[in-house]
Amino acid sequence: MHLPDIIIAIDGYSSTGKSSFAKIIAKEFSFLYLDSGALYRGVTLFAIENGLIADDDTINVPELEKGLENLDLRFSTEGTCIGDRCIENEIRSLAVAGKVSPIATVPEVRNYVDKKLREFGQKKRIVMDGRDIGTTVFPDAELKIFMTADPLIRAQRRADEMQAKGMEADLQDVLKNLQERDYIDSHRETSPLTQAPDAVVLDNSHMSMGDQMEWIKGIISERFGC
Ligand code: C5P
Repeated sequence: MHLPDIIIAIDGYSSTGKSSFAKIIAKEFSFLYLDSGALYRGVTLFAIENGLIADDDTINVPELEKGLENLDLRFSTEGTCIGDRCIENEIRSLAVAGKVSPIATVPEVRNYVDKKLREFGQKKRIVMDGRDIGTTVFPDAELKIFMTADPLIRAQRRADEMQAKGMEADLQDVLKNLQERDYIDSHRETSPLTQAPDAVVLDNSHMSMGDQMEWIKGIISERFGC
């Protein structure tokens, strides 16, 4: 199967397995995989470490905006980095997960991240996952997928994933966090999480990765004749 030069945009709720699916698609079709959430998480880590977000989630927007001017957040072969410092593990912690959705409501943060993401789109042949890729970042993406799954199944998957990495993960805490993030992400003013009208929905509550690959290959061969 050889895909033409397209952009595949994968959006959906938290912990629906978007990144795992996107990575396998990228490998299968020799596309580049980009995790847009990692950049929001990176900005969040920066905000936490610099005392720019309070316990009650109040954000010091003017200082954050100033900080973004010199924030060298990027993807490297090691994962997400700030300058030379790899932050891949820190950004996956519950501490960051608990603050990332409020941070992602800030329009200045969204502009900062969007600019970085769009640079990758020029050459096409990318799979990008997030919350607003098919609606805001790449509204002309040739293939848009909107992922959803039962919340308890999602929480269990995320808790297993965290425990496998040696992180603490209480199922109820993980469930609460993902439901809070879904709510904030879907209700914010700027680029809320919503299904693009031309996106295909994938509910993977009871699907294996093999099932999901079969599903997408069917769509690809129908759409692109390959
Ligand atoms: O995908 P991930 O769960 O790592 O994303 C973390 C958070 O970043 C989301 O809950 C959401 O608040 C924010 N995000 C976003 N727009 C994106 C990607 C992520 O607002 N495109």
